[in-house]
Amino acid sequence: MSLLRWLLILAVTGYAATTIPGVRSHTGYNVLIDGWLHNATLVGASLLIFLRAYLVREDRAAWVLVASGIGFFAMGTISLVSWVQYIVPAPYPSVADVGWLAFYPLLYVGLVVAARRAVTMSSRNVWLDSVIGVLGVSAFAALGLQVVLDHTSGGLAALITTIAYPIGDLILLLLVVGTYGLMGWRPGRVWTYLGIGVMFFAVADTVYLILIATNTYTAGTPLDPMWSVACSMIALAAMRKPPERAKPLRRQGWVVLFVPSLCTFTSLCLLVYASTRPVPVLCVVLATATMVVAAIRSASTFREVQGMAAVRQEARTDELTGLGNRRQFHDAVRAQIDSLALGERCAVMILDLDRFKEVNDALGHPMGDQLLVEVGQRLAGHVRGRDVLARLGGDEFALMLELSTAVGAYEAAERLRADLLQSFTIDGMTIHIDASVGIAICPDVATTVDGLLQRADIAMYQAKAERCGTVVYQTEADGDLTARLRLVQELRTAIADGQLLLHYQPKVDLRSQRLIGVEALVRWQHPTLGLLFPDSFVAEAERSGLMRPFTTVVLGLALDQVRDWQTAGMLVPMAVNISTSNLLDVELPSQIEAMLDVRGLPAEVLTVEVTESTLMVDAPRALSVLGRLRALGVRVSVDDYGTGYSSLARLRELPVDELKLDRSFITELGSDDRAAAIVDSTVKLAQSLGLPMVAEGIETAAAMKRLTDFGCDIGQGYFIARPAPANELTDWLLPGPAAPRRADRIAIRSASRGSAGSVDGGRGGS
Ligand code: C2E
Ligand code: MG
Ligand code: MG
Repeated sequence: MSLLRWLLILAVTGYAATTIPGVRSHTGYNVLIDGWLHNATLVGASLLIFLRAYLVREDRAAWVLVASGIGFFAMGTISLVSWVQYIVPAPYPSVADVGWLAFYPLLYVGLVVAARRAVTMSSRNVWLDSVIGVLGVSAFAALGLQVVLDHTSGGLAALITTIAYPIGDLILLLLVVGTYGLMGWRPGRVWTYLGIGVMFFAVADTVYLILIATNTYTAGTPLDPMWSVACSMIALAAMRKPPERAKPLRRQGWVVLFVPSLCTFTSLCLLVYASTRPVPVLCVVLATATMVVAAIRSASTFREVQGMAAVRQEARTDELTGLGNRRQFHDAVRAQIDSLALGERCAVMILDLDRFKEVNDALGHPMGDQLLVEVGQRLAGHVRGRDVLARLGGDEFALMLELSTAVGAYEAAERLRADLLQSFTIDGMTIHIDASVGIAICPDVATTVDGLLQRADIAMYQAKAERCGTVVYQTEADGDLTARLRLVQELRTAIADGQLLLHYQPKVDLRSQRLIGVEALVRWQHPTLGLLFPDSFVAEAERSGLMRPFTTVVLGLALDQVRDWQTAGMLVPMAVNISTSNLLDVELPSQIEAMLDVRGLPAEVLTVEVTESTLMVDAPRALSVLGRLRALGVRVSVDDYGTGYSSLARLRELPVDELKLDRSFITELGSDDRAAAIVDSTVKLAQSLGLPMVAEGIETAAAMKRLTDFGCDIGQGYFIARPAPANELTDWLLPGPAAPRRADRIAIRSASRGSAGSVDGGRGGS
């Protein structure tokens, strides 16, 4: 079949090529080309379609009809070529016309049968579109018909025959246009080829009739092969794979509206034209009808769109609360996930009311429903920007937050819960309710909507089981993420609400036993957990970016204390620990300067303790901050010295005033000779570099003695004094001859270790 198809294409192309002006040596009729080659193409097309109908079962009847139609057409032409054209005078109508006109009814029926399969009986608008198309084309065809009639002469039979051709073509054309309309103007391959074939037929017939009527027809022009092209296009249509059984139309896109719009527009143009020039009445009537149907179509479209919008809205809204439903939430989260840039996050939160069933059972469903509505309204008050709130069903709500760090999401959830904890008043009845929230962070734990919802759900059930309010879903690697997040949130409150306080540990001159200053050590008076030590929260403050306000509070408390002591007549040097992020904060020096100024304190009273590892980040910024602090007069001490990898020589180049040898060396001083040797040599080396050395963590009299022997300048440790609140340091601070009393105290403390009131005795050995 494929070979025959190519043969046909070749024959038609060859034939058409001979009609290009200049190709033939002689103009005019050529029996071989315009006669028999022409006939062969028509017969070939007909046979090919018959063959297809024989081989393929689908649409067989339709194609047999079409093949017969083209067969009759071919017979008309054959009779003309072999016989009629030699009759003088030429008969009109002749037997050739019988063959040609028989083509039309056979093709109509064939096309209708084929169209029945390819078209679903669609909605009213589809029909209206087809009608607009048919009327629009008719209006123009009527114009063409008028031209033909104007030029026709002869008897009734001749007139009827002449009119029969354009009308036959017109009906064919309308049939195709109507079918296209019913297909939503997406005809597919088969019908596209069919349409092109029919177009060629109509154009060829019209031009031919006009040329005949005006007596200007000559054979051998490009007009002649147009019928061959038309028939072979129809044959090609037959060769295409038959379309699937018609699917319901998806009426979308500009194509749907293009043809009806075009027809409406051209009809309008025609009417405008008719107002200036004489135009056949039929033409005006058809154009007007097109406009009327187009108007009906617009109204119908409007209603359809309205209806669709309402249905869409209903399908995405929760009936009770008016919030979005699960479907809308899904779509919104998917859109958000798709638009996330690298490094951005969003949080999906599921909030489930606690003991809602009890409310429902006790107060009845109408009250329960009312409560859900009010909960929805309260939650809606927290929605910002592109955040989305939806009710998933029952007493379960979902939120998508744009933010979002895990901390941000956790805090948002806690705010929601706090808001829900405020009582609801429904029908004069006060109802208290709480909720459990599960959070999943995208893309940390999942990157699909279902994955996020599922994980948020797991977290929410965990929150319910543990009665802990909010849980953030975490992967293995997160550790106890929720506990950490809770800590951060509480820490933020602690900083703001004054839950931080300071204990002070004396630093003494080892030789004279005189107090030479104190180190401020932070404590957290936690509302439920009691007094917390820095190792349980300082690192988290650093990690979650809270160090700046944290250190501001500590510095404020420490300097307030210095001022208080000063007011009482004592100038006590104060050491404050600062962290890496403080050291990278370029505003720290000016902040400290202002804090000192406000309290009227000299800068020399303050020492900042920086751990050795912090110092070794070696960032130029850190060094510049330290340099500026020293320029102010603030002293810089290297804490936990010996735990890092800095050489003393390198330290000498840095802006530091003091070294604090890490307590791990001091602890082993009594037991380990090598540790003793290290301490000894380190002390000597520091002395030779002119850096005072502080030994921290002195726990025994023996350690203290050895350090004194080594020539260490300053000591600090439980043996001397534990960190304690300011009011318990009065012994150390009373004016007068200090040394003997200090010695007494050391003796007393060594006899009753750990029994002192609120000093840091509770934390065994740390
Ligand atoms: P650090 O600066 O090296 O402080 C000395 C720590 O050693 C204190 O622990 C103190 O209580 C403890 N200590 C003192 N003498 C002895 C002793 O004889 N034996 C033993 N075993 N320990 C002794 P604390 O108060 O728990 O502080 C721990 C660390 O937390 C501090 O180490 C410091 O790095 C940090 N820290 C404390 N307060 C602050 C603060 O306000 N800001 C910052 N950024 N860090 C602080
Ligand atoms: Mg320290
Ligand atoms: Mg230390």
